[in-house]
Amino acid sequence: MLRERSRERGNVTATGDLAATCRGLVKIYWSATGEVHALKGIDAEFPSASLTAVVGPSGSGKSSLLRILAALDRATAGMVRVGRRELSALRWDQLQRIRRRGIGYVFQRPSDNLIPYLTVEAHLRTAARIRRPLRRPRFDELLEMLGLGRHRDALPHHLSGGEQQRLAFAQAVVADPLLVVADEPTAELDSETAWGLLSIMRSLAGRGVALVVATHDPTVIREADRAIYLRHGAVEAEAREDRTLSVIDADGRIQIPPAGLRLFPDRRAVIRVEDGGLRIDPP
Ligand code: ADP
Repeated sequence: MLRERSRERGNVTATGDLAATCRGLVKIYWSATGEVHALKGIDAEFPSASLTAVVGPSGSGKSSLLRILAALDRATAGMVRVGRRELSALRWDQLQRIRRRGIGYVFQRPSDNLIPYLTVEAHLRTAARIRRPLRRPRFDELLEMLGLGRHRDALPHHLSGGEQQRLAFAQAVVADPLLVVADEPTAELDSETAWGLLSIMRSLAGRGVALVVATHDPTVIREADRAIYLRHGAVEAEAREDRTLSVIDADGRIQIPPAGLRLFPDRRAVIRVEDGGLRIDPP
């Protein structure tokens, strides 16, 4: 159940129950070898108090989307809103303020999220100093909730991979962000540890955070409230409450899943509108 809420996060305020929205989001990378169109007009919504899985093969645009949502990178075109703030209109220093106050980010590799010489508690205190939460953080409660209560004096290399990722999530939520974005956070964990981290992500969503998680992990996809499937930089389908819906973009384009595409080797189709439905057959 999504909660009706409107909350302040520094300069970022949730609109109704949507933490973030993208409309027509485009990302183009320019390199010596040419242009890469990584995102080709993404429309997506990320509700508060929910876990959204972003799924897709390697190169489909998951990280590009997450980095833009997390205000770590800018879109080439289109709109991305976190809370009430339209990110594309902001200067880098304003983006940084939103990133600190309103958004948490968790990298795939546990060690990339942590500083080797800081204890668990020092990580949280440092994160709180940088992020400057509106209310005094309750470190004890957070550490207990994330199963790190008995490790508060431990250094990262004394923690397991799962514990390191929990600490990364603890840092990400220390300022009560609207949105936490995580790029394949369970990829380097065994299935039991991944399950533990997933239940923590669920509890954080239960506290009102919008969690957006790029993943290949079938357990995360199954347990998420919603899944967005990307292919070739476009949203191919959205899954919600056990239903997967193909997405028709603003220009009427729809992606045919790879299994269906094999029926059309010459890439031509006969399309008929009949009986209130659409029929697509090989010629
Ligand atoms: P995913 O996370 O699904 O693997 P990415 O968003 O990382 O997808 O990449 C999407 C496409 O953009 C890929 O073709 C990738 O090679 C390209 N890409 C990503 N980052 C850069 C970059 N910094 N410079 C050039 N191309 C990039």
